[in-house]
Amino acid sequence: MRQIIIAGNWKMNKNASETQEFCAELAQYLKTHSVKDVLPLIAPVFPFLAKAADLLAKLPAAVAAQDVSAYESGAYTGEVSATQLGSIGLNYCIIGHSERRQYHHETDALVRSKLLQLREQDIIPIVCLGETLEQREAGETEKVVVTQLEGCFRDIELKSGSEIVIAYEPVWAIGTGRTATSLQAQEVHAIIRNWLKQRYGVEISGIISILYGGSVKPDNIAGLLRQPDIDGGLIGGASLKIADFCQMIDTAVDVAREKRPTP
Ligand code: PEP
Repeated sequence: MRQIIIAGNWKMNKNASETQEFCAELAQYLKTHSVKDVLPLIAPVFPFLAKAADLLAKLPAAVAAQDVSAYESGAYTGEVSATQLGSIGLNYCIIGHSERRQYHHETDALVRSKLLQLREQDIIPIVCLGETLEQREAGETEKVVVTQLEGCFRDIELKSGSEIVIAYEPVWAIGTGRTATSLQAQEVHAIIRNWLKQRYGVEISGIISILYGGSVKPDNIAGLLRQPDIDGGLIGGASLKIADFCQMIDTAVDVAREKRPTP
């Protein structure tokens, strides 16, 4: 059974004290609740990553960066390298988010370069992909997603499958309040799983976590997580309130219990 990841992508939200307050409350929650088979993860902005990692150290939670440089080091003003993220003990990093693709013109080739940088530091990339509304309406969802997978994973070999996470995020559902139905999401997750199966074999593809992102909230997360190929959520807006975030972790714990094979 794959662990369920409940990942909060905070984007450009929360200042230092808000980050600290959220992490302290999350730490308190984690000390008083079991999160068996669930990994809560938050992705604050760069300046507060180390503080967040400190506040959640030794707890069953992870901290991720929202992006990384495609370069190793040097004259790249404003960029943060994978080595630098590794030096504060981060284990995860989001790459290829649709907002990076849209506003910073990131391509699959660039996402692949970032993935390679992260691998050098044993940081698990959360590779985002997904179609726009126009592409979905033109019946191109599968073609788009497969093209993104082929570009991001070109010549990338995997050892076990646990070294990467994929996030399917239909662009039309991000921050719009318009969620894909559980079945629409499962359909694309199955396409992704199938591609992974062809590319990496049954065993590795069965280990890779595929998260869904796009207006996930406390009241729609259960139906999504119950789908066989949905292994968690990459959650923007609804991850910013600690009460909502903890409610979604509670739901994930319940669904993980349902999904656990009976001995
Ligand atoms: C995201 O930021 O990746 C996202 C899915 O945002 P939201 O949950 O707000 O749609």
